[in-house]
Amino acid sequence: MQTVLIDTGLGAFHPFTGSVLENLKRIEIDPADIDIVLLTHAHPDHIGGTLDQEGESIFSNAKILMSQSEWEFWNSDPLVALKSAGKDEPHSAAVVWYAEQCLPKLQKQIQTVDGQMEIVPGIETLPAPGHTPGHQVIHIFSAEEALMVTGDVFLQPLHVEHPKWCPAVDINPDSAIKTRVRIAGQAAHSNTLVACFHFPFPGLGHIVGSKGKYQFKSLDMNTSK
Ligand SMILES: [Zn+2]
Repeated sequence: MQTVLIDTGLGAFHPFTGSVLENLKRIEIDPADIDIVLLTHAHPDHIGGTLDQEGESIFSNAKILMSQSEWEFWNSDPLVALKSAGKDEPHSAAVVWYAEQCLPKLQKQIQTVDGQMEIVPGIETLPAPGHTPGHQVIHIFSAEEALMVTGDVFLQPLHVEHPKWCPAVDINPDSAIKTRVRIAGQAAHSNTLVACFHFPFPGLGHIVGSKGKYQFKSLDMNTSK
């Protein structure tokens, strides 16, 4: 059996962040027992929790997997690429700074994946570019049940309903729109449960609708439906 952690949060840089270790402890998983950290993308709030406050890797025994195109983007000249994409707001400098802090320290552990790839039985990557160039959705499936961890394809439920409403942080809005429509369609047609990081608690639900008209229906935690 392999223990896989999908994304790591921002890390303990703010009083309200850095709960991943506490939450792992609550389910009795030691960070040293994580075999694979699977990253949807390399924005600060997804990779920051890989390092402790001394800048050391927390999940030191894990392979850290990210997409090849994501790795290439953050290791080329991302600030120039962001500026030429019209993304020259302060946010760009901050995300690039963060990637430059984190990725070199993780380099020995990082392996890249390319395209749709089964990482371990029942967990596969689905390319979902746009928000970042190598953004990926994680598809988890077993027998009749499935879950799609959608990363930052949708930053809030309105993005399901209005896929053309692009958050400023989408690096390539055209491909982000195509990805939103495709992932919403795939989740709706297969009635797959989705986990969306930035949605209101619980961030779990179903996407309903068809032919480009979709909505997010949150899971009711009182009934678990
Ligand atoms: Zn992001």
